[in-house]
Amino acid sequence: MSAAGVSEPGDETASPLPDPDSSEVKQLLPSTSHLHIYRYLHSQRANPPTMQEIRSHIAEIHGGQAPAQTDRRLRDLRDYFAVETIRQGQEHRYVLRGRHSRPKDGPRRQLSERERAQVLAPQRCAQCGMTPLDHHIVLVVDHKLPRDWGGSDTLENLQPLCERCNSGKQAWFATYDEYADQISQAAHHEDPYKRIGELLKAFEGDWVPSELIKVVASMQQHQDDWQRRLREIRNLGWIILSKRTTEPDTKRSLSWYRVAHWEPWPSGSIRSEIKRIENERKKHHRLRDE
Ligand SMILES: [Zn+2]
Repeated sequence: MSAAGVSEPGDETASPLPDPDSSEVKQLLPSTSHLHIYRYLHSQRANPPTMQEIRSHIAEIHGGQAPAQTDRRLRDLRDYFAVETIRQGQEHRYVLRGRHSRPKDGPRRQLSERERAQVLAPQRCAQCGMTPLDHHIVLVVDHKLPRDWGGSDTLENLQPLCERCNSGKQAWFATYDEYADQISQAAHHEDPYKRIGELLKAFEGDWVPSELIKVVASMQQHQDDWQRRLREIRNLGWIILSKRTTEPDTKRSLSWYRVAHWEPWPSGSIRSEIKRIENERKKHHRLRDE
């Protein structure tokens, strides 16, 4: 991960960023607070700020404390613009790259009754398996990857959960909120290997719960075999460690992964590169066994 390009503003020539004072931006962004953040990022493109610097800047405008929603508003900007997180040493910096290369399907929308019915059709909590009929629980529509973390409203990202599992999950996910930006970025990669690998990298050597890997791996297309892909990434020279723990309350077994060493992605197709390495290895073993 290099900071190349940061000191070279102008690589957004294909789609120039609108001026913060233009009426276009004012109409586009949902609030003045969003506009303040946009203006700041726009002026700091050659020297992208950290979250702390963004908070301090917004605090100045507000004459004291930055509103608690500053982090969320920065995330909202990603609905309209490509805001990239780059790592420099221990710090994350936010750089405005251009207009959104992948327009979302518009502002957040309410699910239709039909969609809700479709998600709830199994009439069973996807986590604990309880049903409204047998256990008198109420099912709610859950976003597997939260919307704040870049999760979509597509059916693949929705599941029925009972209220208890849903609030448990929300509390548990909230403990990872500091990684929200990086999780969202990892989830948006087209390539499933990148979604998994970039998620592990985002945690900078911290343990990542398998539930989160599973969800992020399936973000663009469903992945039944995310564990296999994770193993395959090791073929590229990555060192990925795993461990198991037991949740004290529920006795549920949890697995965790962390990256101890990673390599740059191959320039071409990751899948073909992994296949190529596997074949080399097989050939090598055959030769040795002969
Ligand atoms: Zn449940």
